[in-house]
Amino acid sequence: MRLVLLGPPGAGKGTQAKVLSKEYKIPHISTGDILREAVKAQTPIGLKAKVYMDKGELVPDEVVIEMVAQRVAKPDCGKGFMLDGFPRTAAQAKSLDATLVKLNRPVDLVIYFKTSVETIIQRLSGRRVCRICGENYHVKNIPPKVAGKCDKDGGELYQRNDDKEETILNRIKVYDNTVPEIISYYEGKGILRTVSGDFDVDEAYDHLSKLFVKENLK
Ligand code: AMP
Repeated sequence: MRLVLLGPPGAGKGTQAKVLSKEYKIPHISTGDILREAVKAQTPIGLKAKVYMDKGELVPDEVVIEMVAQRVAKPDCGKGFMLDGFPRTAAQAKSLDATLVKLNRPVDLVIYFKTSVETIIQRLSGRRVCRICGENYHVKNIPPKVAGKCDKDGGELYQRNDDKEETILNRIKVYDNTVPEIISYYEGKGILRTVSGDFDVDEAYDHLSKLFVKENLK
């Protein structure tokens, strides 16, 4: 299955994508994760992207478009993929289509996680991430066994710069400005499906599994 997971930050796309990519054995491609890796490694892309990411702004289209075009062309995407956090602009959506048509790997379905502002703020402000493996936690919803430490490797849990309250509000604003045209683009193609991003992890998983059966996705 070739899926695009669309929704605001904090909608639970990444959490679902991690579970589903293991289950369906297809890569989970998160542009946010790729960019954070680049920032950590201080590559030229990382150094450029950091300025935008810290403010909750979008990294310029040409940077992310090329990054994703290279990633979806890799052999491990032959069986499918889950794109998380891309596309975020209409230009990204259109160029993704052009790339995938050339590869003969068109998107099957776009799943839109429609999420309330209260849920977004609650999830993002409580999110903590492992410095070593990048695993996500939440101070209330998904607490680690030992406060401040990753269950997997004991790594320190930190709060992302862009999960601080003032940046969260900017990210929501940026998202609200850009998402309507992406939604209408995919609606026009008849491949947009909506699920609630307010569900908890298990409920969301249940809804997605049923949707995949209904849509005959493999
Ligand atoms: P995320 O982890 O998806 O919330 O992404 C974190 C940050 O990375 C965003 O706030 C943007 O600055 C940047 N980013 C991730 N994906 C994209 C994208 N498709 N287009 C532009 N910027 C992106």
